[in-house]
Amino acid sequence: MAKQANLGDLEIVSSPLLSVLQDLHSKYKSLQEGAVANYIPELAKVNPDLFSICIVTVDGQVYEVGDYQQLFTIQSMSKVFAYGLALEDHGRDYVLTRVGVEPTGEAFNSIILDERSKRPYNPMVNAGAIATTSLIKGDGATERLNRVLEMFRRYTGHDVFVDMSVFTSERSTGHRNRAMAHLMLNFGMIDQNIEEALDLYFKQCAVIVNCHDLAVMAATLANKGINPITGERAVDHQYIKDILSVMYTCGMYNFAGEWAYTVGIPAKSGVCGGIFAVVPNQIGIGVFSPPLDVRGNSVRGVEVCQALSQQLCLHLFECGGSSKIKSEE
Ligand code: GLN
Repeated sequence: MAKQANLGDLEIVSSPLLSVLQDLHSKYKSLQEGAVANYIPELAKVNPDLFSICIVTVDGQVYEVGDYQQLFTIQSMSKVFAYGLALEDHGRDYVLTRVGVEPTGEAFNSIILDERSKRPYNPMVNAGAIATTSLIKGDGATERLNRVLEMFRRYTGHDVFVDMSVFTSERSTGHRNRAMAHLMLNFGMIDQNIEEALDLYFKQCAVIVNCHDLAVMAATLANKGINPITGERAVDHQYIKDILSVMYTCGMYNFAGEWAYTVGIPAKSGVCGGIFAVVPNQIGIGVFSPPLDVRGNSVRGVEVCQALSQQLCLHLFECGGSSKIKSEE
């Protein structure tokens, strides 16, 4: 099933955008590599054949194919938005004292801190994301969670909920993340009760979205922080550059360098099999396909984004922001 909104207002040189998505969907549907995440037992239940691609433009047009209404938990893609909220709560300088902006070159769940500063390396890997989430303000756990859910409401344009089975599944098995939290507590990088910080982190990872939502959230970042469908501001404009910079350098974990080289746009993946990518001032892209490669990135998601980047000339240093996506005046 494909849906389009007002295709007449948007053209791709030589091919309509929707048919580009349809072609990519049928091309990569048969790609059977990778394995769904199973270290969070609840995630192992997903159907590996689910596959969707969605693009939302900064003027609010939607192009989508496949299972774009299928719900899944946002997982690591939540880290991007939590980072924005922590920046709004504390400002850039303070957040930088607690979490750095250097890529690790290591897996997303590595138990490492910067030797010199004792900070986690960046907010896109688990250690940095737990530190970031611990910074979110609120009077008690409920208020902090409500602020996170309210933030996701602004980005998606609708109320969001936590998948409690995925949350409890991760809380009861997430010993690695708990170890990171203890290490950061040891170095004074986390102040508050670490079980509370971990609970909030596991809950933010278990927020339920679909592929359409991913593209809307990406388009909100592409649109200087304003949701292009609702017109509501989701995040302070001044932090867009911070968010997109760490997505660009760290969002795809130990594949971030190759991603920057071949795809060339800020992106973030999650172990649910989602990837979202941002072409500033133009479009947001969402892809969902659960089987992951060894680095924890969706196999089909990476292929689709590489192909989209080539076909639409999305690489920031190739087309300098003037892709083949043209809005009519
Ligand atoms: N909740 C997951 C974890 O902390 C998120 C990881 C991911 O999506 N890469 O392990």
